Amino acid sequence: MSWRVAKSLETLRHQLDARFPGRSLAADGSIGDAAHQARGRDSDHNPWYGPGIVTARDFTHDPAHGLDIQQVADQLLDSRDPRIKYVIANRRIATHRDWQWSPYEGANPHERHFHLSVVADPLCDDASDWNLPLFGETPDGRGGGDANFVTWGTGVNVRAEPRLDASVVAVLPGPTRVKVQCQTRGDTVSTAGHVNDAWSFIPAFGGYVSNIFIDHPDPWLPDIGEC
Ligand SMILES: [Zn+2]
Repeated sequence: MSWRVAKSLETLRHQLDARFPGRSLAADGSIGDAAHQARGRDSDHNPWYGPGIVTARDFTHDPAHGLDIQQVADQLLDSRDPRIKYVIANRRIATHRDWQWSPYEGANPHERHFHLSVVADPLCDDASDWNLPLFGETPDGRGGGDANFVTWGTGVNVRAEPRLDASVVAVLPGPTRVKVQCQTRGDTVSTAGHVNDAWSFIPAFGGYVSNIFIDHPDPWLPDIGEC
């Protein structure tokens, strides 16, 4: 049976990947692998809505990379996003009925991941960004030993090639710590009075971001080799 994950959940996954580069995926998942078959009580992991749409996803607790499931879960509740059906984290569940945490008695305590179910409704495929405070914060450097630079701006595209017509492989919702592997000349980008044709390769995303969005005064980054 063919299936896919609700687009809103894919958006959240991409936002968390961008916000917490290198985050663990150990307990991530939507459907299909043994771990999720074992989690069969989470019925929303089954592609039961519409044409095979999975309306739930798990995201791994990884405080070493900055992803604290309680923080994300709390901010999801605070957001009152209409796409949310319920959230489970750290032995508690909260639903869109009252947005209040109450004890969760399920077999899996959800201490190594949080679970998000979205509504079984066309809204589940609303792929717009999740508006959580943590996506707007400047990273505080936790786990940032491999992070050489910080991007600025919102909705910054990471592209497969250093060209404006290349496919987008990731979007940085806000300032993001990135490790730059090398830089190269590509399409000229101009914004806010700056013009730059240098692009940095970010191995964590497998793509390039224009140096105009790297928060550094030099258009060509120092001590970074050419690709
Ligand atoms: Zn789950």
